[in-house]
Amino acid sequence: MRPAFFDIDTQIDFLFPAGALYVPGAECLIPVLSRLNHYAAAHGIPLVSSACSHTEDDPEFREWPPHCVAGTVGQSKPLETLLEKRAVIGVAAGEYSIAGAQQILFEKNRLDITTSPNFQPLVARFAADSYVVYGVVTEYCVRFAALALLRTGNPVSLVTDAIASLRADDSRKTLDEFTASGGRLTTVSELCAR
Ligand SMILES: [Zn+2]
Repeated sequence: MRPAFFDIDTQIDFLFPAGALYVPGAECLIPVLSRLNHYAAAHGIPLVSSACSHTEDDPEFREWPPHCVAGTVGQSKPLETLLEKRAVIGVAAGEYSIAGAQQILFEKNRLDITTSPNFQPLVARFAADSYVVYGVVTEYCVRFAALALLRTGNPVSLVTDAIASLRADDSRKTLDEFTASGGRLTTVSELCAR
């Protein structure tokens, strides 16, 4: 198996109560996010850590409170979730060097990761045969990433104890939609026991 891990939008603005767009309870995920990311590094598994990266007048702020403005603390990821060797793929289309990186910080300025011109090339580059997805928010950015990866035809697992939602109902609907589309649900301990 050649899996790739997708750690979605686990940024300070979403994870912490003082963040600009706090997801209730999300700070409790930090230990498991850290465990998953370090598990990936220890097993040579490619890790994509996506990150909202907005300008101060970003069009997304018509719908959502301003959050994850590039260069702010809120836009960054908690230290516990960062691996030593990192590469950044920016919002703009381009060739980015990811050689030797354990963690790819993948910046995007829309909810849907597939709107980044760098998404498909990155997925093709990994040539992974399965995907593991976790992070925030279940019914928005995590949903988009999980469904997009399912469309590759490879198995996708969503880590149910490493995601958090804004509304429990929407989270349930997302999990139903995901499993009905062929996705499977897993947990941190099941995944990291392998
Ligand atoms: Zn955003």
